Amino acid sequence: MADSKQLYQEVILDHNRKPRNWGSLADATHRAEGLNPLCGDHIHLTVKVTDDTVDAVNFEGESCAICKASASMMTTAVKGKTRDAAEVLVQEFRDMAVGKLDPGRPHHLGRLTVFAGVRNLPTRVKCAILPWHTLHAALNSIETTSTEAEADPMHAPIGGA
Ligand code: ZN
Repeated sequence: MADSKQLYQEVILDHNRKPRNWGSLADATHRAEGLNPLCGDHIHLTVKVTDDTVDAVNFEGESCAICKASASMMTTAVKGKTRDAAEVLVQEFRDMAVGKLDPGRPHHLGRLTVFAGVRNLPTRVKCAILPWHTLHAALNSIETTSTEAEADPMHAPIGGA
């Protein structure tokens, strides 16, 4: 447990010092804004999708360290993936963060599993999920999303009022 905690802290620090894919894409095909009022996280994602493949994702905004590290890792994790594969990752990350990932089933999270510990930190779960939630919104052309919009926003029907 000590090792995974140390790795988690190193990853968070590294991505906060050097966030990957920071900024916004001039040629974005999709974009979304994500809000987590509980913490004050507020991020903007720009996504470029070509032929159903996520070519690039950039992010910028104000957020806590967990949200920033999660966003930074998300941008690198989904780059080059198909939209469907990116959505699978969104779901898997969310399941992991809320402690519902089935340990017996293969997943595609790789290094993202450093965030598995947030399931024990209820106030930080939304910080870690926000970038993924926002990616899902961007890919589905929902321009603004909030972790407080629905009781369970990731499972809410798409395109509702
Ligand atoms: Zn936060």
